[in-house]
Amino acid sequence: MDCLFCQIVAGKTPADKVYEDGEFLAFWDIHPQAPVHILIVPKSHISSLTELTGEQQDLLGRFILLAKELAEKEGISADGYRLTINCGAEGGQLVPHLHLHLLGGRRLDDQLG
Ligand code: AMP
Ligand code: ZN
Repeated sequence: MDCLFCQIVAGKTPADKVYEDGEFLAFWDIHPQAPVHILIVPKSHISSLTELTGEQQDLLGRFILLAKELAEKEGISADGYRLTINCGAEGGQLVPHLHLHLLGGRRLDDQLG
């Protein structure tokens, strides 16, 4: 198993966890880009958004809802936050295990790329 986020899910690489259930794990990004920068990953290995099919639409819905709930829990929901999924090389995806960036706690710039 050479996937970094699978290693974190398996407890073989340490991470600062903020949430865990049977399906997802959320932990603090090691190089935070904002006061709140949490990564949310499905526990099962899905390499990127491009791999998802209609069969996983329920998982995708729960994935986004969990991000919304964690934004509330971190106290950034009222002021606003950003969810980002980088997809593939040109999308800036460095870790090939699907993950959602939850960013907030400061005014994020208007540039998306
Ligand atoms: P991406 O560019 O979308 O693939 O984002 C990968 C993210 O994973 C980056 O924001 C990294 O800072 C973060 N990251 C890399 N290694 C670790 C780690 N061991 N624990 C937590 N976050 C990590
Ligand atoms: Zn993985």
